[in-house]
Order: sequence, then structure tokens, then C-alpha cells
Amino acid sequence: MGSSGVSVVMILLAMWGLWIFGSCKKSPVPPETPPPYRVFQAPNQDIKPETAEWPRPRSQEREAERRQMVEYIRRAYDLDDAKVLEAMQNVPRHWFVPESQQPLAYADMPLPIGYDQTISQPFIVAYMTSLLGLTPEKKVLEVGTGSGYQAAVLAELTPYVYSIEIVEPLGRSAREKLKQFGYETIQVKIGDGYKGWQEHQPFDAMIVTCAPDHVPQPLLDQLKPGGCLVIPVGENSRVQNLVRIRKDQAGLISRESLLPVRFVPLVREPTP
Ligand code: SAH
Repeated sequence: MGSSGVSVVMILLAMWGLWIFGSCKKSPVPPETPPPYRVFQAPNQDIKPETAEWPRPRSQEREAERRQMVEYIRRAYDLDDAKVLEAMQNVPRHWFVPESQQPLAYADMPLPIGYDQTISQPFIVAYMTSLLGLTPEKKVLEVGTGSGYQAAVLAELTPYVYSIEIVEPLGRSAREKLKQFGYETIQVKIGDGYKGWQEHQPFDAMIVTCAPDHVPQPLLDQLKPGGCLVIPVGENSRVQNLVRIRKDQAGLISRESLLPVRFVPLVREPTP
């Protein structure tokens, strides 16, 4: 081996020595540095998949008052529908109540919302919603959007909510409010709900929150076989009968009377 061969071997030995030294030296990794896999967040176990599929707002504002309201409905009326009570717990009713009524937002009573209309009593909202038997794949029609509160409660249970209001400023205000607060899937139409909503029929469920003196035939026509319609019916403006109507798979209609109630009248669009 010549002198150039010896120097090549020495250079190689020196490089190997440096490599060994370098790999033995511990690099100063701070113990709190997370290993790379921790950058992926563990899924939040609190969010149940079936309730996380469509956008709905969550707010802690006045949460304790809401809890009291829900507890009251559960105990005073023996209403034990966990899904509906959870929906009522989730919707901030005070968002739908005018400034002047804010202190009463969680009292179990109807409140004025302007234009001679009212937001329904919380128990009635819970009871009627419970009668609908909603699940997330069902399409529901509401007649009488009013403040938008009932529509928001429905949207806790299914993303397919269609609501009609005849008083234009109420309909517009509810539509804007629902979008602004994040109830993105609810569709609000201004018009006469007596006629239903032809473009989106048939509906699995319908809820009417104003009182006609008879059951509107267009609503029966737009009800899916196996579906149900909850509606206050009565000629008297002071008391009506809350009725649940079912359409069976063969299209046969049955009717049960459930409770005396008091709703504002269903009014018809003025014919031009
Ligand atoms: N569900 C509402 C309560 C509404 S009060 C809420 O959660 O706030 C009843 C509403 O029905 C009123 O706003 C009234 O204007 C509306 N209404 C009356 N007749 C109607 C009709 N033919 N079509 C649609 N809405 C009607």
C-alpha cells in the first residue's frame, strides 16, 4: 500500500470515528416535546356521531335557566322524551324572544313576539315535538314559523326542516335569525301554510302552530304514508283540540284528540 493508500484509509477511519461520536452524543430533546403523532387530536368522545352530522349552534348563555325549564317540563307534565328534552336544553329560547320579554324567556308561558302573535309555551313545544317522533332522516314541515323557536327545536332532531310563515316581517326576521345563529339547514318560506309546501312534499311529519277550524286537505295530501300531523283544530278562537293525525301505509287517515289548547288562528292569504 503506497502513501496515498494509507492517507485514504486514515481519512475513512477519521470519518467513521466522527460518525460514531456523533451518533453516540445525545441531542438535547426537552422532555415536554410531544412525539410527532400527538399532533393528531384524539376525537372528542363527548360528541355523539348521530348528533354531529349537521350544523347546530351550542351556547352556554342562560344554560342554568334552560336546565330549570327542562326539569320543570319533565316533572310537572311527566314528559319523559329524552331526545326532545335534550333538544329543548340545547336551543337558547331567549334568542327568539323580544328584548322586552327577556326576563321571562325561560318561564313556561307563551310570550308576545309582535304582529299579535306569540312564541308558544315551552311545554307545548316539547309535547308537540314529542308527538312527531322525529329521527334524523325524517322531513318535517312546520306551519307558523313565528319567532323561529319551534323550527330550531325541530332542527335539533333532523336537518330536514321546512317552515312557512304568513306574516312577512316575522318570516324574514326568523329566517335571518336562524341563519345568523347557525341553524343552517332550516328553510323558511313566506306564504300561506294551509297549502303546504308542494315542492318539498311528501313530509314524514307536520306540525301546525296556528289553529284552523278544520284540517287543511293539502296538508293531508302532502303527508307521507306512515307519517303524522300534529295540529290544533277548533272553530273557537279561545280553545281548540290538539289532534294527531296519522296516515297509514295504505293511505288511511286516523285521528286522535289529545289536549285542549289555545293557539292563534290560522289565517288565509287574502285572495287577490
Ligand atoms: N311556532 C312559532 C309560534 C308561532 S304563533 C314559534 O315557535 O314562535 C303562530 C304563527 O302562525 C304566527 O306567526 C302566524 O302569523 C302564523 N300563521 C297564521 N296563519 C298562517 C298561515 N296560513 N300560514 C303560515 N303561517 C301562519
